[in-house]
Amino acid sequence: MRVAFLGLGAIGTPMAAHLTQPPFDLTVWNRTTGKAENFVKEHGGRSATIARQAVEGADVVITCLPSSREVKALVEGDGGILSAIPDGALFIDCTSGDPATSKAIAKALAARNIDFVDAPVSGGVKGAIAGTLTIMCGGSVEALERARPVLQAFGQKIVHCGSVGAGDAVKAMNQALLAIHIWSGGEALATLAKLGVEASVALEVINGSSGRSNTSENLFPERVIGRAYPRTFKLALLDKDIGIAADISAENDVPTPLIDLAAELMARAHTELGEEADHVETVLVIERTAGVIIS
Ligand code: NDP
Repeated sequence: MRVAFLGLGAIGTPMAAHLTQPPFDLTVWNRTTGKAENFVKEHGGRSATIARQAVEGADVVITCLPSSREVKALVEGDGGILSAIPDGALFIDCTSGDPATSKAIAKALAARNIDFVDAPVSGGVKGAIAGTLTIMCGGSVEALERARPVLQAFGQKIVHCGSVGAGDAVKAMNQALLAIHIWSGGEALATLAKLGVEASVALEVINGSSGRSNTSENLFPERVIGRAYPRTFKLALLDKDIGIAADISAENDVPTPLIDLAAELMARAHTELGEEADHVETVLVIERTAGVIIS
């Protein structure tokens, strides 16, 4: 099966690395071409310097870019890949995208008889390396069944969420919960630090109690207590994700004051910490405003 993988970022790289062996015949492309060349040296497959070349003859095209905007530009923009993808191929977008743009991309592809599945992932870089990602999919049942053998190469839990855009919507809401867990957890630990309770003690209790989350069980012990912030998932991307969640709630007339507030807080933290900051570094903003170090 000829697979073109476009977008070798922090998560795209370990995902694509699962596709270098038969039955897959992999071609990778990345905007910064050096990354694609390094990928081939490290993992195998072949690289293309132009995206249109990467998709020529492909049975399956996978994209993993920052947002749906970049995917749409790559498909339909000047020199876009749309006319180079073979008729009847399958397009899997693993970007954490937005439903409206995914529907527009799917429509453009359908005109060429190309099926589209939005298939954003969760589980982080560690999950991508281990091949244990959760993948939430939008599209027809038939398209998902075509996508499944490829998704199984890097995913463990593959869930059909509904029609095109449903995967994006579920992902956006998951990310809203993640942002809320990080912010509320940071506030809780900052307050307890002022009361003299050590963060490790607070987390020992919380992780044996009903307030626990992946953030309290994994992210905070590793990064906040360890005071090490590996840059695995950009705050800029979490800001984008919770913005999508707030937008789709508003579009569907669901009042979401908590998600809206968390979106505002994430946007402010993004402005303060910049484009390269990791999502968990948000806690540094809480520490600064509270005037306390969580330790
Ligand atoms: P990165 O910022 O690490 O990588 C982004 C990728 O997109 C790079 O390959 C970059 O190319 C490429 N890119 C950026 N802008 C453009 C453009 N205009 N045209 C073409 N290519 C472009 O992001 P991640 O890999 O972390 O994230 C990718 C997607 O996966 C996002 O939607 C994110 O929300 C989602 N995700 C990420 C997770 C993580 O843990 N990192 C977890 C779950 C989902 P270049 O190298 O040239 O900059």
